[in-house]
Amino acid sequence: MTTLAPPATIAFIGLGMMGRPMAARLAEAGFKLRLYDLSQKAVSDFVGAHPSALATASPKAAAQGADALITMLPDGKVVRQAVIEGRDAAREGLAPGALVVDMSSSNPVDTQKLARDLAASGVALLDAPVSGGVRRAIDGSLSIMVGGAAADLERARPVFGAMGKTITLCGPAGAGHALKALNNYLSAAGLVAMCEALVVGEAFGLDPGTMVDVFNSSTGKSNATEVKGRQFVVSRTFAAGFTAGLMAKDLRTAGDVASHLGLDMPVLRQSVGYWADAVARLGPAADHTEIFRYAEMLAGEGK
Ligand code: NAD
Repeated sequence: MTTLAPPATIAFIGLGMMGRPMAARLAEAGFKLRLYDLSQKAVSDFVGAHPSALATASPKAAAQGADALITMLPDGKVVRQAVIEGRDAAREGLAPGALVVDMSSSNPVDTQKLARDLAASGVALLDAPVSGGVRRAIDGSLSIMVGGAAADLERARPVFGAMGKTITLCGPAGAGHALKALNNYLSAAGLVAMCEALVVGEAFGLDPGTMVDVFNSSTGKSNATEVKGRQFVVSRTFAAGFTAGLMAKDLRTAGDVASHLGLDMPVLRQSVGYWADAVARLGPAADHTEIFRYAEMLAGEGK
């Protein structure tokens, strides 16, 4: 089993908000890239900025001759289509012994099935979702949560090292995706709590910037207050680079994991509903920090 060090060839599928900067880190580290995205513009823009990368016309073409294939797609259903079920799927081009790494935030139950299906073709799967957002994708300091075999993680360590700072083996196939969904439940719940606190505080006459500063020096501090409070919410720029639609999907995944295990978690259940209703009002493409606008809408309607 050879380690995937530069100049190994990586097929990379999904050059969106996250995939683009992550693939850029790999190109800069000296990996050879074979790219595919439904959006031809996403691929041509990337190749314009990184001429050593090769544009391809399908997941299968991207996979041909690659030592590993990375997916950074909206969800596990899209990943399954690209890797095994769709037309010209990647599996048709992958050599036995190649490694598939799904870095999307997918449903862990789907991931367990994908791992079994790929193993039947001699292809190993790691789930390796990330946390840290676009900013940490750009500077290569993502947190990467890995599910799968420890030996496969060791094989892929130089690839992960180019994109992330904290690389954690969470357990077998699906463990990374489960932990990621639960992480985003905490992140989403913390964000809603901050937004509701800001709406109530403003109505009381408090200054929102002062509120965020006090949270950050007090026990209310969270990623929402530290990273999103002043930068995206109080400023009303709402430009974190992660959509409300994807956050609602992650909440749904966390809820599905709990239901799959027969666990009823009331606050999680309510969070799933809250974000689904918010997305119906704001639209799936709204930035997830616009959940503050949704909290304001609810407050206005409740008067
Ligand atoms: P995005 O919508 O910006 O990018 C998705 C990309 O996939 C797009 O370029 C799209 O054209 C492409 N695509 C869609 N369907 C395809 C298909 N069938 N074949 C090929 N390409 C296809 O999404 P993103 O924000 O980059 O998120 C990607 C994944 O990472 C999601 O699972 C998301 O939940 C997760 N994530 C996002 C962030 C963030 O801050 N944006 C942070 C951590 C994790």
